[in-house]
Amino acid sequence: MILTVTMNPSIDTAYPLAGPLKVDDVNRVEPIKTAGGKGLNVSRVLGQLGDDVLATGLLGGRMGDFIADRLDECGVAHDFARIAGESRVCVAVLHEGNQTEFLEAGPEVSGDELAGFGEKFRGLAGRADVVTMSGSLPRGVDAGYYAELAGVAAGAGAKVLLDTSGASLDAALAAKAKPYLVKPNLTELGGLLGREFSPERLDEVRDAVASDERFAGVEWVVVSMGAAGSAAFHQGRAWRVRAPRIECVNATGSGDSTIAGFAHGIAAGADPAEVLRLGNTCGTLNAMDPATGHLPMDRWDDVYSAVEVEQV
Ligand code: ADP
Repeated sequence: MILTVTMNPSIDTAYPLAGPLKVDDVNRVEPIKTAGGKGLNVSRVLGQLGDDVLATGLLGGRMGDFIADRLDECGVAHDFARIAGESRVCVAVLHEGNQTEFLEAGPEVSGDELAGFGEKFRGLAGRADVVTMSGSLPRGVDAGYYAELAGVAAGAGAKVLLDTSGASLDAALAAKAKPYLVKPNLTELGGLLGREFSPERLDEVRDAVASDERFAGVEWVVVSMGAAGSAAFHQGRAWRVRAPRIECVNATGSGDSTIAGFAHGIAAGADPAEVLRLGNTCGTLNAMDPATGHLPMDRWDDVYSAVEVEQV
């Protein structure tokens, strides 16, 4: 079983406008509402890949009910801890090629609620082969919380795929039980290491990852680079993955889809080249579809065979 963790899910609401955004005036809209949050994107893609997936995390109030209903509709099994605060709503106004976003911070989580989730997680992690943790943590939760969960999951024998950034990533890399896989994008890696990287100088990326003690003991470090594919480091070996050239429709959720592909491959015991091919196939397919965290499966064979994976 693959367990996905979403600590701060949202109802992602898109407001497509026919014309310009009218400020200080009325804009009439037909909303498109989806269950959002990076971990939910991972869950949906794993569902498409046919994996045995269970989504967990925190859900609150009527907004939380809505998110659970949407997961039911797309057949993703879930077992969330309930909290008193309402799960958040994030609004994206789409106007004249622009995307103006309004992101709620989400509910504050109490110590008791977090402890309740911790208990649930302990039980679920014991049944999981792979655990994915994605996205930011809600208010009231310490930046070291993913590191704590990763320790519990690793202790239960599960492989942890962690897709987060900033202080949470830092804390997880400083912990004794390191995640099995981390997937910073080039910008997030730069933030972590305090310098800038470019896809043209992957030798610099490789040297930086190899020489930074924080990555020691992490089985997989994958640095994703959007249309340029990714660079990966696994057991002392470096890999370069080139994504096929595609017409990019919506790359939001491509990183989450990549994590789903990795989880799928790792849970199935695939070899390193196949794990990379699966992850990048999912990332690229997501970019070809207007829906976030959704793969056009009819294009699978074309993309899978066009992804280039080589050891460098
Ligand atoms: P994140 O969403 O975490 O920033 P990326 O944007 O790096 O992640 O995308 C993750 C993966 O998705 C890439 O490594 C690549 O395989 C694929 N991908 C993303 N955007 C494109 C694109 N425009 N063309 C082809 N593949 C893409």
